[in-house]
Amino acid sequence: MVTFLRIAAFFGAAATALNAVAADSVQVLILETSESFAHSPTVSEDGKPSLLERTIKQIVPQEWNVVATKDASMINAENLKKYQLVIFYTQGDLTKPNKSGTPQMGENGVADLIAWIEQGGGFVGFHSATDTFRGEGDTVTPYTEMIGAEFAGHGKQFVGKVVVTDPNHPVMKHVPTNWELNEEWYTFRKFNKGALRVLALLDCGEERKNQEMYNVPNYPIIWVRSLGKGRVYYSALGHREDVWENPTFQQTVRDALNWALGEGPSATAPNFASVVPTELPKEKEK
Ligand SMILES: [Zn+2]
Repeated sequence: MVTFLRIAAFFGAAATALNAVAADSVQVLILETSESFAHSPTVSEDGKPSLLERTIKQIVPQEWNVVATKDASMINAENLKKYQLVIFYTQGDLTKPNKSGTPQMGENGVADLIAWIEQGGGFVGFHSATDTFRGEGDTVTPYTEMIGAEFAGHGKQFVGKVVVTDPNHPVMKHVPTNWELNEEWYTFRKFNKGALRVLALLDCGEERKNQEMYNVPNYPIIWVRSLGKGRVYYSALGHREDVWENPTFQQTVRDALNWALGEGPSATAPNFASVVPTELPKEKEK
């Protein structure tokens, strides 16, 4: 992806002379495939679009072309060439049969996805995107290395506090200071500490007294990284439907999509060691 294409996406018709196709539209692919547990925002009932698809279509410019699918075979080198932005709200091993009975991802799917990002693609993952292509034991899969961590577990939902560690980053400009919201909060393991720019931590607050798994120091909950010429964003939020319906969350999603497409500086110097003050305790299995 070249710079003028990204500029075209944000300044619309003005860039038509440079590249008519790019000026008209950004091509977005949403993958919402689940191997064993499908989150309700990704479920399409009676053939209707999922809440995820409806929300993304509602918050992006009308000119953008958003394709949502549960067909994991669409993640392949040839097809990815059509897209500037790929959104994953996925779960499990997508090369295996899935909940929707749609085609499986080919064996080269993850490698093709990573190569596409390295060449300038924008990747945005939500919630169970880290519960996707997990590795056995201590194995870190290429997908986990790419997205930055692996889902370890979650307890009962509670009101957690999102503590912003980089308020100047473009994707954090609409995240309130000490944002409190009711969510299913993931814990993580296998952080790619050398690559991540951590933008927010979860403060479990009083819940530390109620659920032992959350009796831990603040830990990363939203992060970004550079990967070659591409950009990767991950937010653990998005389990609950009312989170997707929350205008503040929607604004943060809009900011994330724009950044992943190339808005603002790509400089995402890793900061894990400086913003995660204490070594995280050994994460517990689900
Ligand atoms: Zn969940």
